[in-house]
Amino acid sequence: MQDFSEKIQQVHNEQLGRHLVANMHIDAGDTLLEERPLLVAPHWECSQLKCSQCMQESYVMCRRCQVFPLCMDCDQHSDFECEFFASGAGSGICKDLLVKNYGICALLKLLLLLEDPTTRDDCQSLVERPVKLEDYSDTEGMWQEHEEQVVRPLLASGLAGAMPAQQLTADVLHAHCIRIDCNAFEVTGRDGETLKGVFVCGAGLPHHCVPNTVVALDEQFNMKLYAAVPLSAGDVIYNSYANPLMGTSQRQHQLRLSRHVDCRCSRCCDATEMGTHMSSMKCRECSAGFAICELGPDGSGDWRCLDCSAVQPAVDVHELLAEVGGALVEAKGDLQVYESLLVRYKQLLHPNHFLLLDIKQNIASILRAAALMNSMETPCKKMLARRVELCSDLLPVCRAVVPGLSKLYAIALFEYLLALIELIELQFAESDLSKKEYAAQLRIGSQVAKEALDLLRFEPENSAEGYLSDRISMELERIDSDLMKYGGR
Ligand SMILES: [Zn+2]
Ligand SMILES: [Zn+2]
Ligand SMILES: [Zn+2]
Ligand SMILES: [Zn+2]
Repeated sequence: MQDFSEKIQQVHNEQLGRHLVANMHIDAGDTLLEERPLLVAPHWECSQLKCSQCMQESYVMCRRCQVFPLCMDCDQHSDFECEFFASGAGSGICKDLLVKNYGICALLKLLLLLEDPTTRDDCQSLVERPVKLEDYSDTEGMWQEHEEQVVRPLLASGLAGAMPAQQLTADVLHAHCIRIDCNAFEVTGRDGETLKGVFVCGAGLPHHCVPNTVVALDEQFNMKLYAAVPLSAGDVIYNSYANPLMGTSQRQHQLRLSRHVDCRCSRCCDATEMGTHMSSMKCRECSAGFAICELGPDGSGDWRCLDCSAVQPAVDVHELLAEVGGALVEAKGDLQVYESLLVRYKQLLHPNHFLLLDIKQNIASILRAAALMNSMETPCKKMLARRVELCSDLLPVCRAVVPGLSKLYAIALFEYLLALIELIELQFAESDLSKKEYAAQLRIGSQVAKEALDLLRFEPENSAEGYLSDRISMELERIDSDLMKYGGR
C-alpha cells in the first residue's frame, strides 16, 4: 500500500514518535512516498449516500448485502464488506444501518478492514498509534460530533456484538474516529464532492508550519509526497496541517483543536513570521514603527514597537483581532463593507497582517466573480486594476511562508496572471497602452505563467493541479502569440 523512496527511512523518538527522515541529499521534487488510501469515505456530517466502490452519489443499495450503497456503474463492492452483512457475522444487523446513520460510514469501513484477516495488517500502524482520549474529550465540537454521528449509533446497532474480537467500547470507537481524522487528507471524488482519504503513513507526518514536502493527490486518490525544498541527510520529513495564510495565533488555535499539537516550529517562534509581519501591529506612538509580539515561553506576550519600544498590551491586541474577525463575518460578501474595513484597519495593522490579507482575498474573489458574470459587458478597468493590485499584494507574503515548490504560490500567481492579462488586454484595446507598453506587460505575464508552471511540474496530470497546469499553458500560448504579434520578437 505504501512505497517508500530509498532516500528516506522510518525512525522513532520520544518527541515525534514514529516519523520519517532523509538519509541522503534529496532534491526538490523528488518523490519520497507513494501511497494508496487505506479507505476513502464521506465526512462524518455527510448525509448523501455514496457508492461504496467508487464514491459517486448513489441511490440504490447492493442487492446482496442490502447495507452498502452502490451506483449505476458499479455492481459490487469489497467482498468482505458484502459477505459480512449478507451471510457473515453481521447478517443479523438491521439493513438500514448506513441509510439511517450514514455518519458511521468511515468508521464502519475501518472496523471491517480490521475484521478482515487479509487487510488487518494494513491498519496496524494506524490503530497502534496512541490516542490520549482525555486530550480530546473537552475539544469543542469534535468529540460531540463523533459521539452523536458515529459512536452512539454504532453501539446501538449491535455491531460490537458481531465483532467480539475487537472489543468495541465507546472509548475504542472514539479513539478510532480521532485516528481517522488525524490521518486523513481531503480528497475530491469524481463528482467533485470532497471526501476523507485515510493514509496510514503520508497523513501521519509530524506538523511544521513551513512544510518541506508537498502532498499530491490524483483522481484515483493515489497520494504522492514529494520534497518541496532540497533536504539534507537527517532532516525530518514534515507536512503542514494549518493554513499558511493564517497568523501564528490562528494557526495554533486550529492545530490545538484539530490535532492537539502545540506548535513550536521556527515560524511559530519567530514573531516577525519569517519577515512577513503577518501578525504585526502598527505602532500607536510613532508613525512608522511596527510592533511585534514578544513571545514568552508559553507563546504569548505583549506587542512592542521595533522602533520606539512602545508597548501594546496583548489583551488590547486580542480584543482588536476579535473585533476585526467579527466584522469579517458580518461583512457577508459585501464589497463596499470589505473596502471600508480595509481602510479602517490599515491604520492599526501591518499591511501584511493576516486579517488584512483575508479582507483583500475576499475583495479579489468578489471582483473575479463579478468579472465572470459580466463577461459580455465591458469590465470596468478600475475593478480590474484593483484586482491586479490585491493579487500582487499577496504574492510576496505567499512566497515567504511556503518556500520551494508550492501549490499555494502557484495558484496565487495564476490568480494574478488572470487579472493582469484581462486588464492589459482591455487597456490595449482602448489604446491606454502603446504596442511597446503592451508587449512589456505581456512579458511580465509570460514570466508569471512560466513560474507557476514550474512550481506545478511534479503534480500528477490527472489531478486538479494537473488541470490547472493545462489551463496556465493555454494562457501562456495566448500570451506568447500576442508577443509575436506586438513584441517584435
Ligand atoms: Zn460506483
Ligand atoms: Zn454488498
Ligand atoms: Zn508552527
Ligand atoms: Zn513606535
